[in-house]
Amino acid sequence: MLGTSCMVPTKERNVQAIYVDFKGGGILFDCGEGTQRQMNIAGINRNKIRKILLTHWHGDHVSGLIGLLQTMSNNENPQKVFIFGPRETKERIAHLLRAVSFENNRIELEIKELNPDGVEKIFDNEDYFIEAAYLEHKLPCLGFSLVEKDKRKINMVKAKKLGLREGPLIGKLQSGKSVSFKGQTISPDDVSHMQKGKKLSIILDTLPCKNAYELAKEADLLIAESAYTSEMEEKSLEYKHMTTKQAALIATTANVKKLIITHFSQRYKTNKELEEEIKTFFQNSQAAYDFMSIKL
Ligand SMILES: [Zn+2]
Ligand SMILES: [Zn+2]
Repeated sequence: MLGTSCMVPTKERNVQAIYVDFKGGGILFDCGEGTQRQMNIAGINRNKIRKILLTHWHGDHVSGLIGLLQTMSNNENPQKVFIFGPRETKERIAHLLRAVSFENNRIELEIKELNPDGVEKIFDNEDYFIEAAYLEHKLPCLGFSLVEKDKRKINMVKAKKLGLREGPLIGKLQSGKSVSFKGQTISPDDVSHMQKGKKLSIILDTLPCKNAYELAKEADLLIAESAYTSEMEEKSLEYKHMTTKQAALIATTANVKKLIITHFSQRYKTNKELEEEIKTFFQNSQAAYDFMSIKL
């Protein structure tokens, strides 16, 4: 959690950014002002970022983007970066790139402007897929889910008992196919089991809405905004942000395993009050703090 503040940085909290380290590549969700420095402090190598997913174009979520791209493009051999964002993302990035002078713009960007209808798959590879959906905020704002695919795990003890050794036969079983070995047929289920992939959902600036419930369905971890405590519901409606109670409503409705709240209004000096409150609404929950790290 590289920033947990809403709108403005405070002495205790930076504005929004969440870094996910997955399969050796980095996925950055939002890039508020100061994200680069937060990455320095957290010991995260900026050049590992492969994807940047932008929820929306409010400054507290994107104002660090141009600085980050500039630094990455100063690298000798920068790798291609994919930027995913809501409607108007292409135009806004073009403006950013024009507004700032690059010494050498070496970085190759591929910008994917998303316009999902309900919950839609926006990326898919052999290890995981990403889903996005529009939420209900003042600007077009996306929520995201990162879903790891189920993987077959070979039990080598069982395999060795049948006389199998590491090699192409194991590879075939791993891919879910039966093999013939010493006159008998071995099915994948004889020596392996399916390990369920994990799901992470990130739902920032919004009011509770149908897409939020669907996106977060059965997530192992939901990171949701709670700009306010529950007595501030009127304000949250006005600004289209959530209270702790509303974040917990999404977590409960979507049947998620764990909830972490973030994106706190500057009126809260620490996250203590928010943490105490969220625990009364959803048991397996926590209030985030800058540099909080979670292993899923
Ligand atoms: Zn925000
Ligand atoms: Zn916003």
